[in-house]
Amino acid sequence: MSKSVSVLTQYFGFDSFREGQEGVIDAVISGRDALAVMPTGAGKSLCFQLPALILDGVTIVVSPLISLMRDQVQSLVTEGIPAAYINSSLTQGQVAKVIRNAAEGKYKLIYVAPERLLTRSIYELVQCIDISFLAVDEAHCISQWGQDFRPSYLDIPRFIESLLKRPVVAAFTATATPRVRKDISDALILHNPFTIITGFDRPNLYFEVRKPSKKYPALLSYLNTTNGNGIIYCSTRKEVERVTERLRQDKISAVRYHAGLTDYERATAQDDFLYDRVRVIVATNAFGMGIDKSNVRFVIHYNMPQNIESYYQEAGRAGRDGLESYCILFFNYSDIITANFLIDKSENKEEIKRNRQLLDKIKQYCETTTCLRSYILNYFGEKHTGNCDNCSNCITSKTNQKTDITEDAQKVLSCIVRVTNAGSPANIQTIKNIVKGVKDDYLILSELHKLPTFGVMRGAESVYLDKIFAELAAGGYIEYSEIIPPEVILTQSARNVLFGNTKVFIIDENA
Ligand code: ADP
Ligand code: MG
Repeated sequence: MSKSVSVLTQYFGFDSFREGQEGVIDAVISGRDALAVMPTGAGKSLCFQLPALILDGVTIVVSPLISLMRDQVQSLVTEGIPAAYINSSLTQGQVAKVIRNAAEGKYKLIYVAPERLLTRSIYELVQCIDISFLAVDEAHCISQWGQDFRPSYLDIPRFIESLLKRPVVAAFTATATPRVRKDISDALILHNPFTIITGFDRPNLYFEVRKPSKKYPALLSYLNTTNGNGIIYCSTRKEVERVTERLRQDKISAVRYHAGLTDYERATAQDDFLYDRVRVIVATNAFGMGIDKSNVRFVIHYNMPQNIESYYQEAGRAGRDGLESYCILFFNYSDIITANFLIDKSENKEEIKRNRQLLDKIKQYCETTTCLRSYILNYFGEKHTGNCDNCSNCITSKTNQKTDITEDAQKVLSCIVRVTNAGSPANIQTIKNIVKGVKDDYLILSELHKLPTFGVMRGAESVYLDKIFAELAAGGYIEYSEIIPPEVILTQSARNVLFGNTKVFIIDENA
């Protein structure tokens, strides 16, 4: 039995490696740098924890989150592996103690927060220990193209330079487009790294985009008709508060989690969820990195996330145990407004531009009628042929016939534009009468019957026109004003339909 397999069973209690682990571990042990892109839950931690036990000297792990370090160190120590961490949760006295112990050779692994790397205490530490291996966890934090850019990650190369002897360096991440991958290996100056990218596909996850006209009732009905625990992501703290409150009123056991809470409140909420004391955690994207809960049955995005990277990472927290799980994104047009608002908060023009490009891709995900899984996998540079049979688009296209109504939708939209430009209120009834060519007193009085769109859909049934309006609203191409009777307002994305860049379908449901 090879050394790494015996360590695997002896210390970690596993019988065999998972896909990708052995290659990375062998590379590191033999002194070669590595870049491992493996999905959440694939077992990346083992790829640095196990070599740490085999290599002489100490392994330094750079990790972005205090909770993540604490959890990993706790479980290592429980397994009899000497490990410690240095981050802002420790007092100066505690840091000094860790450094004393380290100098005496008491640890195999030391987790360090990136902000600490260039501090005096770490400088003193590295003078007296032999660092054989530097593992950079959540390495996408080094790229501005990742969703969790951490400027302090850029200190890592300087830290490496400051060492007397360059250790083996390995980077680990779950989420990396080709661009982020390149950023990681450039920024860390990896030497001819052994690179492994294991499949991103998570076949047990079902993907769905829903466009409910009212989100909360849709959420409640989902929760009332399914079992299991799950995460509900919202894009703002306010929304987290609102949704949690309403769920509690509706007798769903829920806790909230966002950066506006105290450390204690967050830790309690997280534990309540991890140990199944509540069914649902409603959270902003502050929740989840490094969370290792295997039986999350659903991840619902109550708002459209900011980009595909965040979406796949957050949704990927469902079903780590390999059982069937659900990733559902609730989308409506106002999500785009919120997302843009969040993006515009930045002062950095470049960043705004970048984030808008990323936003476009997630918008397309919400609007596409093709296989959702293949959309995501293709985004990450992995070929997938589509027809996964486990996403809402594949299921819909299988069971229903779709009819392309783009041309009629264009007629309706351009009619709305013309009525609005003529200074008249674009009520549904007015629009319907114009396109149908029905000359009522109002049209004659306001001379709307002279518009070129008058009668372009002569003979169309009212029910059919209702379907077009519903589809346009669901697709976020139109909105209704608050006044009664409501006026129809075109949104930005209506242009995509008007100019033929986006098709509109209605689904003929099979009985
Ligand atoms: P990642 O960091 O890639 O998201 P983790 O390192 O947190 O994943 O591991 C996810 C889970 O998989 C953990 O519970 C871990 O104990 C388990 N695991 C890792 N490697 C193996 C293995 N070879 N066999 C069985 N379980 C494993
Ligand atoms: Mg991890």
